Amino acid sequence: MIVRKLPDSVVNRIAAGEVVERPASVVKELVENSIDAGASAIQVVIRDGGRALISVADDGCGMARDDLCLAVERHATSKLADETLSRIGTFGFRGEALPSIAAVSRLSIATRQRDQDSGWALDVDGGHKGEAKPSGQADGTRVEARDLFFATPARLKFLKAAATETRHAVEAVQRLAMAHPEVGFFVGDGDRPLLNLPALRGDAEDARLRRLSKILGPDFARSAVAVAGERDGVRLGGFAGLPTLNRRVATMQFLFVNGRPVRDRLLYGAIRGAYQGLLPSDRHPMAVLFVDAAPEDVDVNVHPTKAEVRFRDAALVRGLIVSTLRHALAGTAQRTAVPVSMPAAAAVTARPPADWRAPLAPRARDRVATPSFPGLREPLAPYDLAPSAPTADWPVPPPGEEAADPEQPVLPLGLARAQLHSTYIIAETADGIVLVDQHAAHERLTQERLKRELAAGVPARQGLLIPEVIELDEGRIAALEARAAEFEAIGMVIERFGAGAVIVREVPALLGTVEVSALIRDLADELVDDDAHLSLNERLEKVIATMACHHSVRAGRTLSVSEMNALLREMEATPFSGQCSHGRPTYVELSLAEIEKLFGRR
Ligand code: ADP
Ligand code: MG
Repeated sequence: MIVRKLPDSVVNRIAAGEVVERPASVVKELVENSIDAGASAIQVVIRDGGRALISVADDGCGMARDDLCLAVERHATSKLADETLSRIGTFGFRGEALPSIAAVSRLSIATRQRDQDSGWALDVDGGHKGEAKPSGQADGTRVEARDLFFATPARLKFLKAAATETRHAVEAVQRLAMAHPEVGFFVGDGDRPLLNLPALRGDAEDARLRRLSKILGPDFARSAVAVAGERDGVRLGGFAGLPTLNRRVATMQFLFVNGRPVRDRLLYGAIRGAYQGLLPSDRHPMAVLFVDAAPEDVDVNVHPTKAEVRFRDAALVRGLIVSTLRHALAGTAQRTAVPVSMPAAAAVTARPPADWRAPLAPRARDRVATPSFPGLREPLAPYDLAPSAPTADWPVPPPGEEAADPEQPVLPLGLARAQLHSTYIIAETADGIVLVDQHAAHERLTQERLKRELAAGVPARQGLLIPEVIELDEGRIAALEARAAEFEAIGMVIERFGAGAVIVREVPALLGTVEVSALIRDLADELVDDDAHLSLNERLEKVIATMACHHSVRAGRTLSVSEMNALLREMEATPFSGQCSHGRPTYVELSLAEIEKLFGRR
């Protein structure tokens, strides 16, 4: 056996395997270089999915002749100020992209510095460097990679259809563009434009939102809230989609650390945690988040493509994300994202919260204390599922009484006027009507109430007259047993009952006459599903959401007027009541103006 050092050409090809996975990686590396070079406009051409040609041209700082010759060498970079790898403020720092791309394609670079009369061009063919020659290149740099992977046929075989590779490349540019609204990005396939994002000036946050809605569509801008938070020098900014703007997959979550797009498990997990209880576990929110930390607090040198990062204090970053998002979303309590989709009902919109929620919430609470609504002091009782609910004890105010009193504060969700199909409540507001899904609304209220009770201490329990025995498989029983103490803390007593069954003796009093076996089955399913990576709090939230769903007023139950009004008033006073825990809206609103439009009166 003879040990020998690998020739450079082979070393570069091996390194290229890490950096250049597919055409999109070339595009990403080259566009990052252009941003690092201070470009204000970047033009990308992708031919045949990047196989035939990838060209990236910018108006950045350009390179001098010697720098150009060095730039294509391995580990040559202009970007590492000191040698500790501790303060990285640019995309690049490894000096690997150009030599790696050069190793697997035919690379040519033309560049001119801003203050120079002439520019320079250099070709590298499958790793073999030519001579630098004078070039008529305009200010800036153009890098062209042709015949990608011609030297590594194995890699070529793994490429997908041209359209797929092109899409990945465009997405790579979009991700970078999200973090840099001040730079213009243009992508074409040689014939057609694929992406056109002009540079945006002016207020940074405004420019960012405009850039994002250009990329993600106008829905995002309409249904997202700005987030801003700071903790120990780590800052969080960006936009979080309302829970109703949810998706089946998490690909609409875009994360940036110090302006660098990352796919980081810690950060995705934090987003999941923040939306816990606002969305079912198989739905994902949309979000674009920017984490900024001092360069020494984050290590980007974890992965060759720098897609992962490591934070010095990961728990702090996670906590910052969860609390900032929660706070931002709580401010949108009554806001729902989706207007109804039927064309005629397109006018049915969710009212933005700013109009009334902030100033009116305290007044809505004042109203809670007024004796004409006894149900409000203990608002759950009137619409409790219990068949024996003593509705007679809740006097219905004489018709018109509430509306007649000019001293009464404006009620954002209005006064209940009717119940339709035993499912929907219609309320009249000062300038329109509100349609409430009673099940969705009640579920949300129950959930918030359970949370409050839990925060205040151990919730009241009620013993079951006949303890319920539920048959389950051993995996689920074990999962429930392992959490028995946690369940007891929230008022639910579950024990093993021989082989293949558990017995439930007590449930939280709040749940009333809930169907215990269905609830326990759901809880067990959820525990085996993704118990492991959830924190205790997240798990509790999940349990609470599940319990709330089982407890809620089913569609189909007839409500009295006072029960309906109690529900509306409690919604006004409860955070997050605009969506049920599955992210669906709990109510929609139609203004008089919109009604008039529907009838052609305007
Ligand atoms: P890195 O970006 O990690 O430094 P690269 O191999 O991507 O490594 O680039 C090597 C060097 O080439 C960079 O440090 C930079 O000095 C120079 N360079 C690359 N692309 C450009 C560009 N578009 N404009 C100006 N200089 C560039
Ligand atoms: Mg680079």
